[in-house]
Amino acid sequence: MRLERSPPVAKTSETDPVCGMPVRVDHALVVQLGERRAHFCSAYCRDEFLAHPERYMGASTEPGAQRGPAWRHIAYFSMEVAAQNSMPTYSGGLGVLAGDMLKSCADLRLPVVGVSILHREGYFDQTLDDSGRQHEAPAHWQVKDLLQLLTPIIQIQIARRTVQVRAWQYTIVGHDGYDVPLVLLDTDMDGNSPEDRSLVQHLYGGDQAYRMAQEILLGIGGVKMLHALGYTGLRKYHMNEGHASLLALELLDQGASANPPPPDFHVVRDRCIFTTHTPVPAGHDQFDYELVQRVLPRDVPSSLLQMLGGSDRLNMTLLGLNLSRYVNGVARRHGEVTREMFPEYPIHHITNGVHSATWTCDSFKLLFDAWLPGWESDSSMLRHAIAIPAREIWQSHVEAKARLLSLVRERSGITLRADALTIGFARRATAYKRADLVFTDIARLRQIVNQAGPLQLVFAGKAHPSDEDGKKLIQHVLAVARQLADVVPIVYLENYDMNMAKLLVAGADLWLNTPRRPFEASGTSGMKAAHNGVPSLSTLDGWWLEGHIEGVTGWSIGTLREDPSSTEAADQADADSLYRKLEDDVIPMFYWSRERWTEMMRHCIALNASYFNTHRMVQQYASNAYLP
Ligand SMILES: *Cc1c(COP(=O)(O)O)cnc(C)c1O
Repeated sequence: MRLERSPPVAKTSETDPVCGMPVRVDHALVVQLGERRAHFCSAYCRDEFLAHPERYMGASTEPGAQRGPAWRHIAYFSMEVAAQNSMPTYSGGLGVLAGDMLKSCADLRLPVVGVSILHREGYFDQTLDDSGRQHEAPAHWQVKDLLQLLTPIIQIQIARRTVQVRAWQYTIVGHDGYDVPLVLLDTDMDGNSPEDRSLVQHLYGGDQAYRMAQEILLGIGGVKMLHALGYTGLRKYHMNEGHASLLALELLDQGASANPPPPDFHVVRDRCIFTTHTPVPAGHDQFDYELVQRVLPRDVPSSLLQMLGGSDRLNMTLLGLNLSRYVNGVARRHGEVTREMFPEYPIHHITNGVHSATWTCDSFKLLFDAWLPGWESDSSMLRHAIAIPAREIWQSHVEAKARLLSLVRERSGITLRADALTIGFARRATAYKRADLVFTDIARLRQIVNQAGPLQLVFAGKAHPSDEDGKKLIQHVLAVARQLADVVPIVYLENYDMNMAKLLVAGADLWLNTPRRPFEASGTSGMKAAHNGVPSLSTLDGWWLEGHIEGVTGWSIGTLREDPSSTEAADQADADSLYRKLEDDVIPMFYWSRERWTEMMRHCIALNASYFNTHRMVQQYASNAYLP
């Protein structure tokens, strides 16, 4: 994907506006009609055009030109989308995945439209005070500069109030100019109560009622808005996580009013695709039926809701599962775990990826341009990185590392060493990701650094405003940073976002990933690191079970299954394993076998970046989920 377009070049061929075939300019029959010069392949087409110019005047003559909304076949709904860094409308991996997915759809010319919510104040901006406490401030952004206001206004019902909804469009442009629109729903407009206007303020803010109202806006408002915008040819609706599941209820309802009830479950199911990202039941979005009855826009019979969404509470994952023909987890292991949770459902997996051109840093882009021309449109070309000379890979990495170290200096005033093994850890700060696992035994860490070689660590990540455990994690990392300042430099960068992620995944020497198993459905930051030749040291969970080859693409922490006796025992065992890997494998290879290290970097690109990308992922969604 790129934002600027190439300058126009003199064209040697044009497209016949009648038959659509290419014609050589010097052989064409030409008709001048006002401003418009039309080129024809034959007298047949010319005469047809002259007989009915009104049929063809509006038609674009660009090959593969943009077609109107009616030509879009697939709608992709996601509560968060990270379309670009100056739109803070995402909290983490889920939103980045959605943005990368839509970028690949644009590159691959898939007729997709994205749907999300405006989130005027984003997720939040993070600052950390001297005691390491996180503070949150609204993340204001330039809505009017980045988006185009669309004309339709629709109404939805929330808690028996009528709420006006409008939409803005952000246009994602593929690398050869194909557009994928992202429609962002907005209730912050005249005629709505302050309460309803505030529904588009915060991503994942507010209480359960606020969350439910946002999901009504996304699922029900989204379907209605697409209809009002003229997306009449939609064949598939893809729900990215349970936040979007109410769209299936809306489709059911529309079907039911067309042909009298009972609703046609099969028709809705044929149109719906559900992707789950949550490997534990506690993570599934659920609402009390008392709340649902209060907030949901119409009198959905509670027996119907309970049949689809579960008897105790409305479970949005269950609702998605019950109304989708194709259901998938986001990595092979996550597919297995999801089938264990819902054994009676046919659940597939499509392993996540990242958008290669977005997550490859400048120095590696230049290298790939030189050695693997065409890699941006065909990520599988990256497999040929195996032929790139090791010293060029190392040189590109040295440049990426220098950029990270200057960011660290700017933000923290700390000067890290360019020659010291630098470990990166950045993601949402939440308990299961265990940002502080590496600090389980400080004395041991000191000893490793003294005996094996120097280490320095760079952390970043936001905790959800109501996640006290996540906030404590940040405080703990900062407390250890002070304690170890003389032996292991440790930096926690504030306000993690996509730009910072890009510098971190490329500039670190090693990417650390320590989720408790099986909590990490996929994880994608390690895939970003692989695009920049950075190996992972990771517990065997999520995508790493597919990407890990010991000593070739990185290293594992712990065993395949977690020690089941207790969480503490599992943490202890993993910490042990982490220390052993650092001491015996990682640090010695980094300092004493630079050749083997760069060989490993090359494998990360050739084996992992060539596969764990959204071009491959989107093609799997197309063939497995969208086309059938
Ligand atoms: C990629 C990314 C994530 C996801 O990281 P994981 O390690 O997969 O959890 C989160 N936040 C930002 C800003 C990212 O770019």
